[in-house]
Amino acid sequence: MDVTTEDKTDILSVELHELQEKLLQIGEKKYRGAQVFQWLHDKKAVNFDEMSNISAQTKALLEKNFYINSLKIQKRLVSDLDNTVKYLYVLPDGNKIETVLMEYRHGNSICLSTQVGCKMGCKFCASTKAGFVRNLEPSEMLLQIYESERDSGRKIDSVVLMGIGEPLDNFDNVIKFLKIVSDKNGRNMSLRHISLSTCGLVDKIYSLAEQRLGLTLSVSLHAPTDEKRDRIMPVNKKYPVKELIKACDNYFKVTGRRISFEFALIRGVNDDAETAEQLIELLKPLGVCHINLIPVNEIREGEYKKSGFVRDFQKSLCDAGLNATVRRTLGADIEAACGQLRRDNM
Ligand code: SAH
Repeated sequence: MDVTTEDKTDILSVELHELQEKLLQIGEKKYRGAQVFQWLHDKKAVNFDEMSNISAQTKALLEKNFYINSLKIQKRLVSDLDNTVKYLYVLPDGNKIETVLMEYRHGNSICLSTQVGCKMGCKFCASTKAGFVRNLEPSEMLLQIYESERDSGRKIDSVVLMGIGEPLDNFDNVIKFLKIVSDKNGRNMSLRHISLSTCGLVDKIYSLAEQRLGLTLSVSLHAPTDEKRDRIMPVNKKYPVKELIKACDNYFKVTGRRISFEFALIRGVNDDAETAEQLIELLKPLGVCHINLIPVNEIREGEYKKSGFVRDFQKSLCDAGLNATVRRTLGADIEAACGQLRRDNM
C-alpha cells in the first residue's frame, strides 16, 4: 500500500536531534542523522537518491518515513536597476507567498515570508488585506532560501523575516526555522545575520529574549503615541506603546542586541514635527537603538501617501542624538509593496 504524504514526516522541518531520535526509532543508526541533515541543509538535496554516502536500505527507510518538501516558482521579477529578484512561490497546497532577494555591497540578503497572509491588520500593509490563511512550516521558510539560491546562483548571507506574515504569531515554527538554519551541521548561518521584524506582540518579545538566540529584533513602531498608533496598527490596542518599549528594553538588556525600529513615514499621519518630538521623547531613554525611516509604499487600496518630509524628520531625530537612517529603495521598477504580488495572483 502506498504511504500518503500525510503519514510521513516533513524532514526539512525537523531539528537534528529530532531527526536522530526518529532514526533510532525506525531502527537506524543515530550518526546517520548528521549525514542526512547535511545533505538536506548544506547540499540542498531535493530527493533521497542524491545522498550518495547513504545505503540503498537506509534510503528506502527514509523514503518510507519522510518526505522532502518543495516550493515551485510561479513568477520571478528581476529589477534592471539593482538585481533585486522578487519570487512568487507556490506551496504544495497551492497557497502563494513572496520572497525578495536583495543585493548589497556586503552580500545578498533575503526577505522571507512566515505566514500565508496576516492577521495583524496594519492599515498601510498589503499583506493583511486578504486576511490570514495559515502558518508556514519551518521547511517552507528554509526552502525560500534554498530555492532562491538554486534559482539565482547567488549565495545568501543574511536573512530578514520581514515578508508576508507576523513571525511572532508563528512563534514555534519560526524558532524551529532559526535553530535549523543556524545548525553547524547544516546551513550554518550565523544568527547574527538574521533579523526578525514584529508589529509588537509584547508577550512573544519576552519569550524571544528568553531564547537568547542573538538575532536582531526589528520593531515596526510607525507611531510614538497610543493615540497615533491605534489609528494605523490595531495590535496597539492589545499591546500599547509603553508596554512595547518596556519589552524592547528587556530584549536589549537580556540579549545585548540593540533594537531596530521601523518607521514608515506617511503624509499627514506621522511625518510632522510634533511626532518627531514625541518619538525622541519615547526612544531617548532607551539608549542604543536604531531607527529605520521608510517612505511608505503606496498600496493600491490605501489612502496613505508617501511623506515629503523624510529628510527633515531624519534631521530632527539625528539632531536629538538618535541614530536614524533612511532605508534605500531596492527593486523600484518591480515594486509592488509587500503582499501585492501574491494578491494579484490569487
Ligand atoms: N509583521 C511583521 C513583519 C512583516 S511587515 C512586522 O509588522 O514587522 C515588514 C515591514 O514592512 C514592517 O515594518 C511593516 O510595518 C512594513 N510595511 C508594511 N507595509 C508597508 C508599506 N506599505 N510601506 C512601508 N512599510 C510597510
